[in-house]
Amino acid sequence: MTDKSIPLYSLLNQCGCFLFSRKGAGMKLFEAVKEAVTARNAAEYYGIKVGRNGMAVCPFHPDKNPSMKLDKRYHCFACQADGDVIDFVAKYFNLSVKESAEKLAEDFSVPYEKYQSYNKTKDYQKPKQKKQTLDQFFHEQQIRFFRVYSDYFHLLKKWKVDYAPRIEDDDWHPLFVEAMEKYTLIEYKLDVLLSGSLEDRARLILDCQEEVKNIEQRIKEKFAGRCGCTSGSVTES
Ligand SMILES: [Zn+2]
Repeated sequence: MTDKSIPLYSLLNQCGCFLFSRKGAGMKLFEAVKEAVTARNAAEYYGIKVGRNGMAVCPFHPDKNPSMKLDKRYHCFACQADGDVIDFVAKYFNLSVKESAEKLAEDFSVPYEKYQSYNKTKDYQKPKQKKQTLDQFFHEQQIRFFRVYSDYFHLLKKWKVDYAPRIEDDDWHPLFVEAMEKYTLIEYKLDVLLSGSLEDRARLILDCQEEVKNIEQRIKEKFAGRCGCTSGSVTES
């Protein structure tokens, strides 16, 4: 991720309506496994007999009477073996803690945020895809905003002339009023889209979604006939 994309990314993430919300992405591997599986669950799953009192024959030293207490964590009162579920499975199967956590996640179907780890091919493809999609989204929105504002700007320019009040008019035509009110503002927004900073463009795209949607709708339906523009060509000035 480049430095420039960080503010944009966080700006876009503020908007809950976008596809890129991280909500529901889940916990990280270690956290998720420890939350979902106890040392006792794992011991029983891998074939260790655990009594109702949570005591078991310790697999880590030659044990005759149950010396190990298993609950969320495990502790052996004889050999002092001690740890959480991930430590237990790592020691039992002679795995690294990472391998142990992955094994537990798989065996107990624990969902977790896979793209947090970067040491597997399938893992690091996720953030990459996400970023491409985000860039793509931003690019498309920028083109859309420019098209809509540009069409609207030409309409405003036309309305300023076509609906300019005559001496005998009592009231100003609403489209003339709208043109007077919006002309400079829309010109400014087009300027931002053309030459504004990344943050300014992202902010505009976030803040003006509703406005652009409405203008788009108006141009498409209501004004296509009324202002003499065909639906395919509204840019005529
Ligand atoms: Zn022991």
